[in-house]
Amino acid sequence: MLDKVVIANRGEIALRILRACKELDIKTVAIHSAADRDLMHVRLADEAVCIGPAPSPKSYLNIPSIISAAEVTDAVGIHPGYGFLAENADFAEQVERSGFTFIGPKADTIRLMGDKVSAIEAMKKAGVPTVPGSDGSLPEDSEEVHKIAQRIGYPVIIKAAAGGGGRGMRVVHSEASLISSIHVTQSEAAAAFGDDTVYMEKYLENPRHVEVQVLADGQGNAVHLYDRDCSMQRRHQKVVEEAPAPHLDPEARAQVLQSCVDACIEIGYRGAGTFEFLYENGGFYFIEMNTRVQVEHPVTEMITGVDIVKEQLRIASGMPLSLKQEDIKVQGHSFECRINAEDSKTFLPSPGTIKHFHAPGGNGIRVDSHLYNGYTVPPHYDSLIAKLISFAEDRETALKRMSIALDEMLVDGIRSNIPLQQEIMKDAKFQEGGVNIHYLEKKLGL
Ligand code: ADP
Repeated sequence: MLDKVVIANRGEIALRILRACKELDIKTVAIHSAADRDLMHVRLADEAVCIGPAPSPKSYLNIPSIISAAEVTDAVGIHPGYGFLAENADFAEQVERSGFTFIGPKADTIRLMGDKVSAIEAMKKAGVPTVPGSDGSLPEDSEEVHKIAQRIGYPVIIKAAAGGGGRGMRVVHSEASLISSIHVTQSEAAAAFGDDTVYMEKYLENPRHVEVQVLADGQGNAVHLYDRDCSMQRRHQKVVEEAPAPHLDPEARAQVLQSCVDACIEIGYRGAGTFEFLYENGGFYFIEMNTRVQVEHPVTEMITGVDIVKEQLRIASGMPLSLKQEDIKVQGHSFECRINAEDSKTFLPSPGTIKHFHAPGGNGIRVDSHLYNGYTVPPHYDSLIAKLISFAEDRETALKRMSIALDEMLVDGIRSNIPLQQEIMKDAKFQEGGVNIHYLEKKLGL
């Protein structure tokens, strides 16, 4: 087992990683910016190193500082969490070159999956269902491009190969605007990602977002931990997640789960990962793979009993996967509400000091949060302050428990999106299950 791990992140996920390390008797090093001295996990870690000023490019994205922190503390591994450098292949490479273990996939795998064109190609080869599309980057020749769009059928979506965070995409409804849309997406992609490669896909009009959690040891063993539905989104940001995804076509589901496992073996995947799909009319269409732990991993932990972060640490220690597919069973249902420091109506960030924090509890309630009374949410980072997770033997009860917990939860001193979450839990269509990715924005009149 790894002896000492640097937690290269902040907030709730840093605390989540710290807890997993403690369970495995791994020593912990918290690294933090000057604005984050008071973070819960910084207080609880064995050692803490301030790696730079508040702005993340100078701290949480500062690769040399993070590696130096590992050096001075004699750590052996670095856990990147999610966001920041978690999917940065250069970071993974530099970590390994400096003699540390990167708790995640190999740098080459991150690179392969970070480029959506190469990711889709690899997935097709492995038998994972993809969105009908251009099968590679778009050619220069506009006649060729028109032919591709006609073959796929309008509407189509132009996407940046290097895109991420919901940026670098444009929907095209007819031939007239095709070429100009491609040019705009190319220049946006060049400016945002330093790479103007774009490709084309069929635009699915009313899909759901369904994803598959996998674990692989890079030694030829891989399992899936079933699916999650994260369709409740605003501006491509997930708001509520649940596991398992409700009302899926059982045959298509079984096939897609197996294809994800096959793909892990095929690409020599190592670590925890997520295959993201759009799901429409009973069919799955791969859109991208995330090569890290996801924010919403707890809902999968609740229904499978597998501790995903501990598995990440075990895999990084070189241990073969101890889980067998036949041992992983779905039991019950779980929801996660992301609690953000933001206004429930305007969505404007609301940093500030928490005067009073009360975490809900009771049977089937889990709260992953770094908040405590008197903690100040800094304005520099993501607004996620807590993940409220419910679990029960069936979906209806899990939803009820979530509603009750939201009513119990108190975050005084700043504004939060708890009122929005309460409204979502009362929504009749959401209660039925299976709403599409546009549902929340339509409901909010956006
Ligand atoms: P990113 O890496 O920026 O998150 P994704 O490829 O995961 O990009 O796409 C983000 C979101 O954009 C999806 O969750 C979905 O809402 C929308 N989207 C992407 N591709 C398509 C498509 N082919 N049809 C419909 N919507 C799409």
